[in-house]
Amino acid sequence: MITTDIAIIGAGPVGLFAIFECGLLKMRCHLIDYLPQAGGQLSEIYPKKPIYDIPGYPIIMAQELVDHLKKQAEPFHPTFTFGERIESLEKKGERDFLLTTNMDTQVHCKVVVIAGGLGCFEPRKPEAQGLENFENGKGVAYMVLDPEKFRNKKVVLAGGGDSALDWAIFLAPIAKELTLIHRSESFRGAPDSVSKVMKLAGEKKINLLLNTNLLKVGGNGHLETVSVQNIKTKEEKIITADDLIPLFGLSPKLGPIEHWNLQIDKNAIEVNTEDYCTNIPGIYAIGDINTYKNKLKLILCGFHEAALMSHSAYKYINPGIKYTMKYTTVNGVKEF
Ligand SMILES: Cc1cc2nc3c(=O)[nH]c(=O)nc-3n(C[C@H](O)[C@H](O)[C@H](O)COP(=O)(O)OP(=O)(O)OC[C@H]3O[C@@H](n4cnc5c(N)ncnc54)[C@H](O)[C@@H]3O)c2cc1C
Repeated sequence: MITTDIAIIGAGPVGLFAIFECGLLKMRCHLIDYLPQAGGQLSEIYPKKPIYDIPGYPIIMAQELVDHLKKQAEPFHPTFTFGERIESLEKKGERDFLLTTNMDTQVHCKVVVIAGGLGCFEPRKPEAQGLENFENGKGVAYMVLDPEKFRNKKVVLAGGGDSALDWAIFLAPIAKELTLIHRSESFRGAPDSVSKVMKLAGEKKINLLLNTNLLKVGGNGHLETVSVQNIKTKEEKIITADDLIPLFGLSPKLGPIEHWNLQIDKNAIEVNTEDYCTNIPGIYAIGDINTYKNKLKLILCGFHEAALMSHSAYKYINPGIKYTMKYTTVNGVKEF
């Protein structure tokens, strides 16, 4: 059981900045994100794109902004749970919430801040027979959470984008045998990554199967075989495998948030713009996940929402205690 002042669902830019704002008010944060890393849309969808509308930065790469936000939050020692999705949110009493993830991790907190963006990024699954029988730790995974898990294993990767290419390059020296399957002849990823994969294939460090589709998977309790078919020749092949990692991209879905008795309008949580609280006292929603009149889904708007939320959360956690706002230029950033 993790115990904290504030549980933040979503470690996108807005969730990350909320750590800083809450930290200034001496409130500890634990963040939970379904993705294996912090950064939300910025790290998952456009890490190498320049952003031009962050105040004070005429231009900044998306991943660089995430790195700065993580650094800015460091003095407040946030803790993180990655690769897990909050499934249930229960209000146990005043200033007493219990969050439970799909892996049964529990977070006990005084305030919940939903910074869930567009929702959880769900994997796009290929149409291969039997995949669902081997999900949840039985050999089929749609994200790489811990590359060490694949050491000395026979791994099959499927996909033709940056993610499949990057992991093929990374896992080739770790896995016992690495096969990369792609349904086309050309890749969509960065040219440099394509060259590296081709080189590794030439050196027989990657078994590259182009124009190839996944057909079905088999095994006895755990994955043992992956059947594939060449699209052109129709020739079928069975590959022995411990792990299959289909990487066909992720698409966001609101998911469990819909079922927490919050007021929802068109896939977003309705909030009061005075402090970004929801209809349930002690639960706030900031960033892309919320909606109100004239809402703009911009990072800078999420930052403003995080600041107002933190002051309201402080009052909720400390009823009757008056807090006078002090500038960081006056008070500095006091680690705790
Ligand atoms: C291509 C592109 C370009 C953009 N360019 C700009 C720009 O130039 N300027 C700008 O201001 N904005 C831009 N945006 C928008 C900007 O990315 C978003 O406004 C911003 O990401 C919102 O941040 P967030 O923290 O609210 O949500 P997100 O970045 O979406 O992060 C939310 C996180 O919550 C997690 N999550 C959701 N539900 C759960 C759950 N139940 N359990 C666990 N985790 C959960 C998700 O996995 C995700 O990581 C752009 C967006 C895109 C797609």
